[in-house]
Amino acid sequence: MKRAEHEIRSNVGKLLKQKKIDVFIGYEKGTLPLRTSPCFVSSEKEARKLIWNSFCTNNLAVYLPHIMSRVKNKRSTRVGIICKGCDSRSLVELIKEKQLTRDQIYIIGISCSGMVDYKRILSQVNSDEVIGVDETADEITVRSKEGERVFSKEENLCEPCRTCKHAVPTVYDMLIRTAQQPRQATTSDSTVHDFLMKPREERWQILEQELGQCIRCYACRNACPNCYCKECFAEQTKPRWFGVTTDLTDIIFYHTIRIFHQAGRCVDCGACVRACPMNINLRLFTRMLVDEVKERFGYEPGVAPEELQPLATYSAKDKQDFMIEPE
Ligand code: SF4
Ligand code: SF4
Ligand code: SF4
Repeated sequence: MKRAEHEIRSNVGKLLKQKKIDVFIGYEKGTLPLRTSPCFVSSEKEARKLIWNSFCTNNLAVYLPHIMSRVKNKRSTRVGIICKGCDSRSLVELIKEKQLTRDQIYIIGISCSGMVDYKRILSQVNSDEVIGVDETADEITVRSKEGERVFSKEENLCEPCRTCKHAVPTVYDMLIRTAQQPRQATTSDSTVHDFLMKPREERWQILEQELGQCIRCYACRNACPNCYCKECFAEQTKPRWFGVTTDLTDIIFYHTIRIFHQAGRCVDCGACVRACPMNINLRLFTRMLVDEVKERFGYEPGVAPEELQPLATYSAKDKQDFMIEPE
C-alpha cells in the first residue's frame, strides 16, 4: 500500500507541475479512524496528502459531471482522477452518456484488491476508543485504549468486492499495481438468487422492513455517479410525481424509480449502500438490476467502452417476454 501511495503522490505531483492536469481527485486521511475523504489537489505540494489504503471506498467519478458542468473552458480543462475497477466503469458510462469526454480526464488506474467495510469492523470494536489503524497485505490492526485487535481483510470486505470480476480498471492513462493481486472473484453473487428463493410474502416483508427505515435524505442518490440530473424526479414540483414524505408508498416510489434509472448503468460499486445513514440494504435491489441487464442483454456497464448501452440501442434478438407477461 505504501509503495502505491508513493507512486500516486509522485505521479500526481509531476502531472500538476507539468500542467498536464488542472486538478486531481483522490483520497486523503479521514477525520475519523478507518475513514478516508475525497480530496481535490491542485499543486505538487498538495499532492503529498494523497493516500491509498483499503478504506478508499468512495466512487470518485461522482464528482466529474458536476465539475465538468461548471468549468468555463471545457476544451482546455483536464481533470485527473484515481480509479479502482468499479470507478473506472462508472467513468466509462459517463463518457457514453456525454457527461464528459475521454480527453478531459487523466485516469490513474489502480489494480484493486478489494475494499474493507469499515462499518463491519467498527461494529466489532468500541468505536469511541479507536486511536489508530495499521494495515498489511491481509490484515487490519485496530489499536484502541483496550489494546489491539487484528481483523482479516478477506472476512471484512465490502459486499460488492466479494464477487468483483473487474478490479483492474477498464480504462486508464497510467496503471498502478499494488503489491497484492487484483481481486478476481471466481464465485457469482447469490444476493438476488437467495432473495428470490424466499416466498413472495417474505420478500415483501423484507422490502417493507428495509425501505421502511428510509428517511429520504437522498445520500444514496448523491453518492451515485450516475445520478447527475440537474433536477431529480424526486424533488420535482412541476409536475410533482409523488409526495415528499416518509410514507412507505412514497419511499417505495422513490426507490423503484431511482433504481430503474440505473438499468444498464449501475456498476455495483456499493457507494449508495455505504452512504446510507440507516444502513438499508439497497444492494438487494440494485444488484437485481445488474443481474437482469446482464441476463437479458449480455451487458455489463463500463466493461467495454465502445459497446452501446442496452437502453440506447435495439436488437431483434432482445428478449421481449417481460413486455408480455411479467412473472
Ligand atoms: S468492487 Fe471491485 S474494483 Fe470496486 S472496490 Fe471492490 S474489488 Fe475494487
Ligand atoms: S446505484 Fe449504487 S451501486 Fe449502482 S452505480 Fe450507483 S452508487 Fe454504485
Ligand atoms: S441514503 Fe438511505 S435513508 Fe437516505 S434516501 Fe437513500 S435509502 Fe433513504
